[in-house]
Amino acid sequence: MKKRKREDSLTATQEESMKKRKMDDYILHPEERAAFFTLLEDDNIQLFLIRDSCFKISDKYLLAMVLTYFRRAGLTTEEYRTYFFPSLFLANQFEEDKPFREEIYPWAFGWTWTIQRKELHQLRNLLLIRMGFRAWVDRATCDLIMAQDPAHWAWKRERKVHHSWAIRQFRRKDTEFTIKGPWIRPEPCSLCNRNAH
Ligand SMILES: [Zn+2]
Repeated sequence: MKKRKREDSLTATQEESMKKRKMDDYILHPEERAAFFTLLEDDNIQLFLIRDSCFKISDKYLLAMVLTYFRRAGLTTEEYRTYFFPSLFLANQFEEDKPFREEIYPWAFGWTWTIQRKELHQLRNLLLIRMGFRAWVDRATCDLIMAQDPAHWAWKRERKVHHSWAIRQFRRKDTEFTIKGPWIRPEPCSLCNRNAH
């Protein structure tokens, strides 16, 4: 009976600490949110987000995960820029099945991406260590983060159902998997155009 009680209290403590960690995730300081939104306006990041017009690698949930990672890793706002693409890469690795995330390399490094891609992996690993390997973010946490600035354009990046992985890979075109970087403008998406009206 005594043992049972000890177990109960341990569970309660664990639950308490889990709750606190969860709260920490979405209770963001206004300056953290402001720094994140300013970062999204950066010329290179802005173009990257525009080019990902179907939100395959940067939909609202993946972006909310990036902000959660910044918070969990205890990054200073000065570090946000360095860790943006490594964080987004990690969020994609964690949440998405297929390698659209490779498109992130050229945006992070420009022409030298094939030589520098390992640097992105190193930064991703550092980030993982700094956040105690807690890369999983639940949808509720993302929703709570977005609810703090519901009108922001970043949180309107809703991925369409026809881009979910319910559509089998064999029905996709090869060009979808080609790395384009900032240099090649992607073709307009036939699926989104067809579903626009
Ligand atoms: Zn599309």
